[in-house]
Amino acid sequence: MTDREEYIAYIQGRKSSAKRNYHKESLKCMEQIRASGEKPRILLHACCVVCACWPMELLADTFDITLMYHNSNIWPQEEYDHRLAELKRYLKERWNDSISLIVTPYDGTQYMQDLAFGKDDPEGWKRCFWCYEKRMDECFRYADENGYDWFTTVMTFSRQKDSQKLNEIGLKLQQKYTHTKYFCSDFKKADGQVRSNAICEEYNLYKQNYCGCIYSLRSE
Ligand code: SF4
Repeated sequence: MTDREEYIAYIQGRKSSAKRNYHKESLKCMEQIRASGEKPRILLHACCVVCACWPMELLADTFDITLMYHNSNIWPQEEYDHRLAELKRYLKERWNDSISLIVTPYDGTQYMQDLAFGKDDPEGWKRCFWCYEKRMDECFRYADENGYDWFTTVMTFSRQKDSQKLNEIGLKLQQKYTHTKYFCSDFKKADGQVRSNAICEEYNLYKQNYCGCIYSLRSE
């Protein structure tokens, strides 16, 4: 099978109805946690405030949230800095800085080189799978080493990203780590987009028009 045939088969597979309902699973999981009376710690990977604002609202009653901004995939650095500044502003204005934020070092130059193998890929294909897994794996490792009970990423909020794939990656990574569990999600469901839009409007938040890497910027 050529790469193109593989991609077409993948896209057709995405349209099939035999999908796992990660949104339903996430609601059930949160219900069980709340019933236990515990408020476990979750490390929440945040790629930007647009994708993070609604998941934070959804999770805040169930989890003690720490955000991790780990995104060397964003190019150029000015854009990375701007998305980070908007996330910080939102944490201050909406959450009064009650939610901690971890920011990891930025190395966009190396990241773009690493991504170059898929520079001609359509967005949402193998370059992106590599990009999801790299950031999720590094955040997951941090969560496990630092005693977080759960880890997840806000990336399932994005309509451009395949939630089935992101959750498969998360569940696979869970096998690697001994302490931290993966929290399945599909944050775009149940009007996630509408809720995010309302928050972005209320706080006048910056909404970027490309995913992040130089290859997604060029395709705009
Ligand atoms: S388009 Fe987005 S997810 Fe895909 S490789 Fe670029 S930054 Fe990563």
